[in-house]
Parts: sequence; C-alpha cells; structure tokens
Amino acid sequence: MAQNQEYSLFEDVCSFVDDAAQHMELHPGLLEQIKQCNSIYKFHFPVRMDDGSYQVVKGYRVQHSHHKLPVKGGIRFSEMVNEQEVMGLASLMTFKCAMVNIPFGGAKGGVNIDPLAYNTRQLEKITRRYTSELIKKKFIGPAIDVPAPDYGTGAREMAWIVDTYEAFNPEAINAKACVTGKPLSQHGIEGRTEATGMGVYIGIREAVSVKEDMESLGLTTGLQDKKIIIQGLGNVGFYSAKYLSEAGAKIIGVAEWNGGIWDENGIDIEALKEYQIENKGFEGYGKGEFIKDSASLLEKECDILVPAALENQITSENAGKIKAKIIGEAANGPITKEAEKILLDREIFVIPDMYLNAGGVTVSYFEWLKNLSRVSFGKLEKRYDMEKYKFLLDSIENATGDAFKQEQRDAIVKGASERDLVISGLEETMVTAYHDLNEMRKNKKIKSLRTAAFILAIERIAISYTDMGIFP
Ligand code: GLU
Repeated sequence: MAQNQEYSLFEDVCSFVDDAAQHMELHPGLLEQIKQCNSIYKFHFPVRMDDGSYQVVKGYRVQHSHHKLPVKGGIRFSEMVNEQEVMGLASLMTFKCAMVNIPFGGAKGGVNIDPLAYNTRQLEKITRRYTSELIKKKFIGPAIDVPAPDYGTGAREMAWIVDTYEAFNPEAINAKACVTGKPLSQHGIEGRTEATGMGVYIGIREAVSVKEDMESLGLTTGLQDKKIIIQGLGNVGFYSAKYLSEAGAKIIGVAEWNGGIWDENGIDIEALKEYQIENKGFEGYGKGEFIKDSASLLEKECDILVPAALENQITSENAGKIKAKIIGEAANGPITKEAEKILLDREIFVIPDMYLNAGGVTVSYFEWLKNLSRVSFGKLEKRYDMEKYKFLLDSIENATGDAFKQEQRDAIVKGASERDLVISGLEETMVTAYHDLNEMRKNKKIKSLRTAAFILAIERIAISYTDMGIFP
C-alpha cells in the first residue's frame, strides 16, 4: 500500500475527464474550466506541544469547482496529504456530486499529520487552528464551503470545527450548516456515520442485479454467496462489509495496512472489527489465516474486490494479477489510470468511486438541509396521532373507493423517523444514479462505467457553467 511520489491523483482525474470528453462535443475552453481547480489554499501554522515545544503543520483546502455553491468535501488527516492529492480528491468531489445530482461544487481539505501520533487535546488544537485559518480566508461557511469527515477524521473533529466556526461567527443563524458529519448532539443527522458504506452496498447490489452484465462476467445475479475481499476496515470498509454480508455475500478476505485475514468460510465482520479495535490489528485473531503481506490479499480469487482505503492501490504493477471479476471502488481513486486500462482489457468490471462512494456526500446534503431549515427530522416520528387522522384516512377511502390495509394506516399515521427518511433518500439516490450511469454506458456503447460516469457528470457541470455565463 505504498504511495508513489511520482503519482498524481489530480493528473489521473484530468486524464479520465479527457477520455470522457472524447465522447462529447465540448468547447475546449469549457473543458479546461471544468478540469482546473478554482482556488487552492495552502498554509502552515504552529502547534504548541505538551512539553512546550512547537511543531509547524501543513494544511490545505482546495475548492475545485464553483459551478455550484457551496463547495463540499471532507478533510483528511494523514501524513500522505499533499497538494496534488488534495487537488485530485477535490476534483473527484465535483464529479461525484454531479453524478448523483447533489447541488454542490467539489472541495477537499487536508492536514499533513499522522493523527495517531497526537493525543486528543493536541488533535483538538490542530483542528481548531486549521478551522480558524479557513475562516480567516473565507474557505468555510454554510454558503461557501462545507467540510465533512474523510480519512483520519470523524464526527469528533466536525464538532470542534462547528464550535470554532460559531465562536468566530456568533450571529450566523445558519452556522451549524458550516460542516457535516457532526455528532447527533451537535446537529448531525441519523445515518451519516454509516452512509458511505451503505451507499457502497446499494451500488454493488444494483450492479449485480443487471442480468446481462453478470452473465457476461460468468456470474449469477444477486449478492447471495458472492465472495468478497475488502481492503481497509475503517468507517467505509467496515460498513460496506457489514451491509454486504447482511445481504448474503461472504466476506472472505480483509486487508489492512498492518496485515490481513483470509477465511474462505466467511469472516464475522463485527467480531473482527471489535478485535481490531482492542488489538490495533488482526494478528492473533483466532479464526482464518493471518496474512502479513496484506497487499497479496488483493490478488486472491474472489468475485468482488472492494478497495476501501486510499488512492493508488491498484496500479500497473498488480492490475494484471487481480482475480476479482468486479472491483467496487469504495475509496477515492484506488485504481490508477494505467491500471484501469489493464483491467478493462481483462474485462474486469469496475464500479467507479465517483458513483459508488457518493452515499457519504448524499447524506451530508440531507444534514446540511436539516441545519439550514433548523428542524430535527427525528421529531416527525409519532407526530401524528392515529385518532386525529382517522377521519382523513376515512375520507380518502370514501373518495377513492380503495380501502387502506391496517399496516398502511399504521405507516401513514406513524410518520417516518429521521433514519427512515435518510435511508430512503440514500437508496433512491444510489439506485437512480446507477441506472442513469448504466444507460449512459449502453447509449454510448462504451465498456467503462467510469467513462460513462464522467460523461454524465461533465454534461451536468457543462450545462451549469454555460447557463451561468462568464463574469464580467
Ligand atoms: N469525504 C467524503 C467523500 O469523499 C464525504 C464528503 C462530504 O460528505 O462532504 O465523499
């Protein structure tokens, strides 16, 4: 899982855009506008350590596309963060949002630290200072730029961000909408934590339901008994694996940076995750075989490989050795441009990141809407009193002549919980987008779902830029 210094995620994304543009008629100036990053903010700030010394930390926020505002995208804490990576991730956010019709431009932030090397107090200082730098330069705000969790960050960091933002903007009535992925107590939304993984499950489920695609891969339709290998058991990997196995698939391998587990009988994902939290790895886990060289797990026989860790994992070096029939990109950018060519020639079916991991930003959108309207969707539950609404149901029955079944009456009267609303919105978004995507692939008679996804996204962004006009 090493990172190659020569590799640029941003260049790879631009090159995927160029591939898609070959199937479209776009003005070259418009194409250039769509590819470039609108604003890049790179900064350094000092952090005082517990022993009185201080360290200088490097931070970034890249706003890739202002074709829709606010721009949206996570904040990554990792030692591998660099300008090209953040630019690439920001641009993927633009295409991801357009792909699933979420009205945001794309952005991404990064702090170049190893979060495991700091205690909670120091991480809070770093997060708050980073936020204050964004505030100073107007790189954060409910109508401007709305961060969210990404690799190395979670709800805890989002709570620190919103609190810092509110401290500097005491009169902003919409301040809570300055960041998503917050804890529920800080105006987060039900289902956001597991949203990306649930979206990955829904996307893979849709892909394996298309009979002709599965037949051409020599697979049956449906998830039942599909053998899956997951790379990364963080938030995205864990929830993807959990929902896929609950739907009948068998997780036979899990690869982490410090070793993997291989078990053809199927892995109990929740038990493995618990063990990982307690022991900081899989070594010593009683079941299956511990595999030290976890990269080798990606090359094992399986039906579906789900890279859910970082970019640049399937490269020209290992693409020829992958035995999976389907690769579902739960991470952002796990397959390089060069590797993609090899996989396509080998007829491996790739479900692209900009579609498959869009569940996170989709539910972020619901959270942002919830914060802007300052309602708690949760309050809808049991809002209706059965007796009070009985007359309404009766009059609908009288007017239509159709009788409601008891369970229909109960469902209508009970109303939906916040979680029900979030899950149904996520399901609808992921299902619709998959079928848009597959239709585009068939209409254009192209092999690559990724190219189809870029065509769809670019078409939408191009319309937005064209209608907006050019200032001045
Ligand atoms: N970091 C996530 C992503 O890469 C979520 C972004 C968001 O919710 O804004 O899609």
